Amino acid sequence: MTVRIARIETFLYRADVKEPVKMSFGTMPRRSALLLRVEDRDGAHGWGEVWCNFPPYGADNKVRLLETVIAPAAMAGSFADPPEAWQAITERTARWAIQGGEPGPFAACIAGLDLALWDMAARRIGKPLRALLAGDAVRDAVPAYASGLNPDTALPTVERCREAGFRAFKVKVAFGPDMDNAVVSDLARHRRLGERLMVDANQGWDLAAARRAVRNLGAYGLDWIEEPIPADRPATEWAELAMLSPVPLAGGENVMGYEAFAALIANGHHGVVQPDMLKWGGVTGAFAVGRRAVAAGRSYCPHWLGGGLGLLAAAQVLAAVGGPGLLEHDMMENPLREALAQPFPRVSDGVFPLPGAPGLGVEPDLDRAAPWLLAHAEHRATAA
Ligand SMILES: [Mg+2]
Repeated sequence: MTVRIARIETFLYRADVKEPVKMSFGTMPRRSALLLRVEDRDGAHGWGEVWCNFPPYGADNKVRLLETVIAPAAMAGSFADPPEAWQAITERTARWAIQGGEPGPFAACIAGLDLALWDMAARRIGKPLRALLAGDAVRDAVPAYASGLNPDTALPTVERCREAGFRAFKVKVAFGPDMDNAVVSDLARHRRLGERLMVDANQGWDLAAARRAVRNLGAYGLDWIEEPIPADRPATEWAELAMLSPVPLAGGENVMGYEAFAALIANGHHGVVQPDMLKWGGVTGAFAVGRRAVAAGRSYCPHWLGGGLGLLAAAQVLAAVGGPGLLEHDMMENPLREALAQPFPRVSDGVFPLPGAPGLGVEPDLDRAAPWLLAHAEHRATAA
């Protein structure tokens, strides 16, 4: 399954939305998606997406990094398989990432490329990505939850998501104790039998505020409390909050590297482990972290808030990892979600069905997404 890349295309999309996603750290007034399409020397292709939802123009730097640094590095050699490509390209660009002070953007671009190579590898053997990862007996659906819910419109959004087939919902908190309590108690009161509710503080509390919040909000019978404090706070703070909280803590979307995930899983303060595979690691890293998390008794719930390809990638890896984890399914306005992943799977009774087609199982509809296309570029390997 030697990987020899002949061509890499990049596509940058941006769409304005009427209701921005509101987090404790800021808002998303527009939604970006950065895609890449890889083709090998036999004409096989694969699609990847790069995490870029914040800050609003962060994608612009990443598309340039892909075009000028990552794509040339990827086309300069051949690799035994996608994990070897991820490792080799990471090593080949490591000094530049340090020199540029940009380990995050480099890791995200390489993660998106890794996804494209895995998609291509699965398409080449005619199997869904999950089957390439975990064998043909892998499950073909994953439980999902509706994500991105704003506190001020949470109730009507839950109603809309329930209509759309969801049975689990996650709302943003850390907008002040009064508002947080009001929103969560409202949602808990309107929760139906069997429905699940989670909250995401997006690193919005300091330790003192988090001590109070995890006790108050945890009393509503939540499935988890996500990122109560900044991801880089010392393990002693996470340990204390994990003890005080009546429900599991969640996090991982702001963690990079095997060593950091190994420590996070081993120390056990996070009951729910949530790597963003297109921020760091790609399929290669996320599958490894997910398996380790589940083996250690944690729940693996991949983080994603972006376009449809990334959502399908998260779903495929979750299916392959197994365990009790839920798929994060953004339900806020974003026309790029469905346009860039066709045919788009529909959630039903809380379950996201996975396509049977090879690779990710979807293709971006470039015509439908054309109104939001900002930039498209193509890079070819020099003949060898
Ligand atoms: Mg989160």
